[in-house]
Amino acid sequence: MMDLYQELIVDHGQRPRNFGLLASATHSNRGHNPLCGDDVEIFLVLKDGVIDDIRFSGKGCAISTASASLLLEAVKGKSVTEFEQLFNSFHAMLLGESHDDLGKLGALEGVKEYPMRIKCATLAWHTLKAALEDKK
Ligand code: ZN
Repeated sequence: MMDLYQELIVDHGQRPRNFGLLASATHSNRGHNPLCGDDVEIFLVLKDGVIDDIRFSGKGCAISTASASLLLEAVKGKSVTEFEQLFNSFHAMLLGESHDDLGKLGALEGVKEYPMRIKCATLAWHTLKAALEDKK
């Protein structure tokens, strides 16, 4: 199981999904993790409270890129409320607390053993949260 999870992180870290710019974005935000040098920008189209389309760009370590890629895959087509629930569950997982099933995002659970990398794993999440709160 652990190997499978590692493969998922390597795969998404090397070939991120939903990577690129989104000219039609209604919301966007850029986040930076100075501890590691990760830089991520998220663009999304919000339609009737639903994340209709979403992309990210930037440069970061394998963990931050994989987390952004897996996050975007998970929230595309979901409501803002569903994203907030996912956000809470993801943080609970990294704190070692009980949480809802996170599907593929569970691959990042191992990060909780490395406190320095938690900011890498949560960067895209905080960036998306800020993007949703703030119109372009
Ligand atoms: Zn990083």
